[in-house]
Amino acid sequence: MKLIAPAYYPQFSCIAGECRHSCCIGWEIDIDEETAETYRTFPGEIGRRMRQCIDFDAEPPHFILQGDEERCPFLNDKGLCDIILGCGEGALCQICTDHPRWRNFYSDRTEIGLGLCCEAAAALVLGWEAPVSMICLSDDGERAAPTVEEEKFFLLRDKLLVQIQNREKPLDERIADMLASVGGVRYQDMTVWENYLSGLEILDSAWVELLSGIDGEGIALPGCAGEQLISYLLLRHMPKVLDGEDAAVIVSFSVLAYDLIKALFAQCEVQEFSALCNIVRLFSSEIEYSEDNLYAIFDEIASS
Ligand code: SF4
Repeated sequence: MKLIAPAYYPQFSCIAGECRHSCCIGWEIDIDEETAETYRTFPGEIGRRMRQCIDFDAEPPHFILQGDEERCPFLNDKGLCDIILGCGEGALCQICTDHPRWRNFYSDRTEIGLGLCCEAAAALVLGWEAPVSMICLSDDGERAAPTVEEEKFFLLRDKLLVQIQNREKPLDERIADMLASVGGVRYQDMTVWENYLSGLEILDSAWVELLSGIDGEGIALPGCAGEQLISYLLLRHMPKVLDGEDAAVIVSFSVLAYDLIKALFAQCEVQEFSALCNIVRLFSSEIEYSEDNLYAIFDEIASS
């Protein structure tokens, strides 16, 4: 079985203390069973803290977040993790080891990528200059054939990726080609979506504030960020077609995300790359990382 990733993947590293929106703040972090068992009897001072700062009776056990900011109890004042500092990365639970990685599983491979809710991942993905290709990270030699449905799926996804990466055409034409391939739609008026998105579950009030400023179509994103954003969304979300989602809905969603981010980017006082990464980070946290919100948007697109 092969482990496949976008070419930028190996270059990712967590910026830890430099991170302005740490994933160790504001998110409830569940601890997998195996790690919870280890933490229950962990020796020394750090073990004592684990028994104090973890709700082992919860299902699943999780860290007890601290203060109004809801910080992980092991995130220290320098923005570093005391578990890593004291015991090494190997002592982390599965979620902390994995974040911000996502995985999609197929019969013949697993694909892994980096979620845009992490500012370091967003900067890497959006700033990647070459059309994104896939690389093999590892291969255990086990061979399995893709199913007929997966083969059809890969053909369609690869076609869409070729279309969006066709740099001989302007991005709008590439988007039109992609939408035509699946019968998708492009929404012109982002103010309609502003109202809709503001009514979904909100994690961070900064997202609603940002949405409330939408008043136009938006401006072009710097460099290859638009192409990379859409490529990322296809890689991450197209496999939902294998679970019954409509390809037209996923592609329309990817284009909607691009147009929405363009509209949000237009509001920034200074159109800098870091401002774009912050918008994309918020979008990803609020929409991609909330299954309820993501599928509500899919349903909205399907019914429109
Ligand atoms: S959000 Fe990304 S860069 Fe920030 S602490 Fe988490 S993994 Fe590291």
